[in-house]
Amino acid sequence: MALTAVKGFNDILSDESLRWQHIEQTARRVFELNGFGEIRVPVMEKTELFCRSIGDATDIVEKEMYTFTDKGGNSVTLRPEGTAGVMRALIEHKLYAQDPVAKLYYMGPMFRYERPQKGRYRQFHQIGAEITGVNDPLADAQVLNMLTSFFREIGLSEPTLQINSLGCPECRPAYRTALRSCLEERIGGLCEDCKRRFATNPLRILDCKVPGCIEKSAGAPSVLEHLCSSCNDHFSSVKRYLDLSATPYSINSRMVRGLDYYTRTTFEMVTGLLGSQSAVAAGGRYDGLISQLGGPSIPGIGFAIGVERIALLLGNQQFTSSPDLFIATMGAGERDIAFSLMDGLLKSGLRVEMDYEGKSLKSQMRRADKLKARYSVVIGENEVATGSATFKRMADGLQSDAALTVAGIHSLIMKLEQ
Ligand code: ATP
Ligand code: MG
Repeated sequence: MALTAVKGFNDILSDESLRWQHIEQTARRVFELNGFGEIRVPVMEKTELFCRSIGDATDIVEKEMYTFTDKGGNSVTLRPEGTAGVMRALIEHKLYAQDPVAKLYYMGPMFRYERPQKGRYRQFHQIGAEITGVNDPLADAQVLNMLTSFFREIGLSEPTLQINSLGCPECRPAYRTALRSCLEERIGGLCEDCKRRFATNPLRILDCKVPGCIEKSAGAPSVLEHLCSSCNDHFSSVKRYLDLSATPYSINSRMVRGLDYYTRTTFEMVTGLLGSQSAVAAGGRYDGLISQLGGPSIPGIGFAIGVERIALLLGNQQFTSSPDLFIATMGAGERDIAFSLMDGLLKSGLRVEMDYEGKSLKSQMRRADKLKARYSVVIGENEVATGSATFKRMADGLQSDAALTVAGIHSLIMKLEQ
């Protein structure tokens, strides 16, 4: 039987990689501008970390985790998301002792056992950012502005920002009770998952995609009407700061996130172009998480961007990576000089390709076209004898002569590119 990749795990081939690099580089640039530094944490953690952070009664922990027992008999899990591991590292290395405000970002693969479909895979990739140590709504606004800048810089204007507040341990229990009493008489019409959620995690019912459940939960009480006064003030300030920075957003009081650790501000960047895979980035505040994991009582807020979904949205945009110059040779005698020129030009920072295998001139020129080289040159006995050659700009056929030296070629290309 032919060996293939595991279902839901994908190879990223070179064309696609260029798109991914564009996404990753844009994120690094925008995040670093905002003062965030990269943290790299393992892809596998003790299972208990995710149970204690994401919550036992969430879809992720109940059915989506890749959990297994290692050879030492320990239960380990491939990370389904990034925040838990980053917070574990923050506590383990006491990062808060060096600086009470930590601004961290990460990127890498996450693993969830879900039904694979467009925009939903079993290994997928997230780019995330977290600020810990700040309660102030300013941090919420900066995180949201940074996420908005990322989308602008990447060239996607369609996803829109939706925000909500999920309250805090002070006010959420009363909301949960109000929601339960509203849904109690409609429970018969809910899907099996929601019947279970009714007991364990009724807020999740608002997030169910099953049409019957959407219908039954329509008109359910709004979490925003049950916020305590300090959560209400916090949310008002977040909105005020977003208005101050002219960041567009809408309020979606039905947005509940799939992880239990969220408090107060939650948000999603939503697209209409990917069917039910509508969230391309999501996050929120998690003021209780660090203490829940055994650390000090430090608040935090962050988000994760789904790289595959961004790549799908960028789908028809071309990201090319083409050589500046293709050096063709008439015969074997010119290959040494072509190789030295290529080597020198590469060291000078130009992207140069040549024929590796002594192919015919015609096939070398076909390759120059295929690689979309911007300039080409043919070196024969004549060029070697005179020490100069004619360079052709491939786009319009413009011809220019230059000395066959690294400096000569470099300055010609720089001049023509101005
Ligand atoms: P969804 O509602 O689509 O399942 P989610 O709420 O489970 O998303 P989060 O846990 O908030 O997603 O993860 C943040 C982002 O990671 C999502 O907005 C999405 O872009 C991406 N993402 C989540 N799960 C997957 C997956 N299985 N495959 C690809 N991308 C994913
Ligand atoms: Mg999910």
